[in-house]
Amino acid sequence: MKDNKYRILVIRFSSLGDIILTTPLLDTLKENYRNSEISFLTKQKYQGLFESDPRVYSVIYFEPEGKDKRLPGLLRLIKGLNQEKFDLVVDLHSNIRSFFIRHLVKAKRKIRYHKRLIPRLLMVYFKKWKVESVSTVDCYLETLKKIGIKVYSLKMHLHRIPRLYSKNEERIWAEDFLSEIGVKKEEYLIGIAPGAKWETKRWDKDKFSFLAKSLSQDLSIQTGSICTKVLLVGDKNDQKLIEDIKDSIGEDKVIQAVDLPLDRLMVLVERCELFISNDSGPMHLVSALGVPTIGIFGPTSPGLGFSPSGLNDKVFWAGVECSPCSLHGEKGCVKESRFCMDEIKPEEIIKEAKKMISADKVIFLDRDGTLTEEKDFVSRIEEIKFISGAKEALKILQDLGYKLVIISNQSGIARGIMTEEQVKEVNRFILKELGNEGIKIEGIYYCPHHPEENCNCRKPKTGLIKKVLKKNNLKLKDSWAIGDKLSDVLLGKNIKGKSILVLTGYGQGERQKIELNSKDTFWQKPDYIAKDILDAALFIKSESLNKSAKPTINSSRIRRR
Ligand SMILES: [Zn+2]
Repeated sequence: MKDNKYRILVIRFSSLGDIILTTPLLDTLKENYRNSEISFLTKQKYQGLFESDPRVYSVIYFEPEGKDKRLPGLLRLIKGLNQEKFDLVVDLHSNIRSFFIRHLVKAKRKIRYHKRLIPRLLMVYFKKWKVESVSTVDCYLETLKKIGIKVYSLKMHLHRIPRLYSKNEERIWAEDFLSEIGVKKEEYLIGIAPGAKWETKRWDKDKFSFLAKSLSQDLSIQTGSICTKVLLVGDKNDQKLIEDIKDSIGEDKVIQAVDLPLDRLMVLVERCELFISNDSGPMHLVSALGVPTIGIFGPTSPGLGFSPSGLNDKVFWAGVECSPCSLHGEKGCVKESRFCMDEIKPEEIIKEAKKMISADKVIFLDRDGTLTEEKDFVSRIEEIKFISGAKEALKILQDLGYKLVIISNQSGIARGIMTEEQVKEVNRFILKELGNEGIKIEGIYYCPHHPEENCNCRKPKTGLIKKVLKKNNLKLKDSWAIGDKLSDVLLGKNIKGKSILVLTGYGQGERQKIELNSKDTFWQKPDYIAKDILDAALFIKSESLNKSAKPTINSSRIRRR
């Protein structure tokens, strides 16, 4: 059997966080090799992670046991791999085992990841040194650049975000599971992962208990009748820890998720309003699923390249003199007290958590061609004409509890076609017109640059979103981007939200672009294609009324062996 597929083998055996951080590289590979099949070689325990992942064609597990453990198992694996006839091997593990595999598997091209240990070790040994923080995601991407693969993401700010795809079928399981134990749909869930591989990386158990107890009590009061429950997540090594925390907060407040298969864990944590975790695998998992995440760092530092990746995720790190003291927290603490963890007070996290939970959900709207009739470079208010149904649509979204923000690329300014003052005047007019109808827009943010300037604020990059988040108390969970261009769709992906393409403005042409290369360009696909903004609003309304039936993230189901 030989077709013209480009076959790629990606190797990363462990650990959970590291594997998740390879996902932007998978995006980049799919973007460069449109007609490709990626096989991912990893350990059995990570089964479930890529079950519904449109980027991964097959997952190969390697977990030899007993006599098979050493050479025989490895040789059998290599024999099997050689039947796949790979074109490219990307070794992201770079250890002895992957060295053998890389060398013995036949492929036209082979590359391996350089761990950039030196800058990381410098950070560990000379804390005060001005060492630029190392992004693990970027290090993985650098691997590809070495053989001339274009890392578009560096330019587009796309696909640099670790992202996971949960399994639709498992959502039904999660609903059943939660309803069986009496959790109602409208109840809040706060997720906590109190464990970590190394003792030193675990924040104090009593602090987690205090945090969980206060949050569930306070939020239940704040939200009136809505209860808040705590989802405690961990593997079998965390069982005792989780039991202890459960006992101190009360059984009726706690849901335990110990040693769940990853595909089930993924759908369960997606249900959380917020997730609080030590610097560990679950932190990367929830963040890659777009759940607002708080990461607690002690003996490791976020600068070592393992921060949670969401735009409004938060990191707590005391920055004490002795931290970071090791790369992964493997060294025991030599101080009389664990200052790096002790200095992080539960009260601070509770305060931040409440802020994150009470933040408003938001819809990012495009302006020209989406809310108003498309006309190249609108510079005068006389040229503004609202698309029919636009005002009604915004009212629907506002009534659903969304905050509305307009994000617009206005390169006409850089092109010298119009002045910034003209754009501002048009925006003031739009705000006034909508205000007269009782519609409140949090702001109209625009990028004045030329596309070639490669700025950080032009959609689909998220520079303007960061600005919006800083100014307003908004959260990106359940957020949407709506517009008539592919850049609006990609903006939705970049904020780990959902996206709708409207067929007004440039929408028809943009839809054609997407459908033309449909099969291998799943990341361009919006969650919904709407006739116009009103249709989009009605879709979001139906989604929020029936929250259990979330839209599929990937419409292209990929065949599995
Ligand atoms: Zn810009």
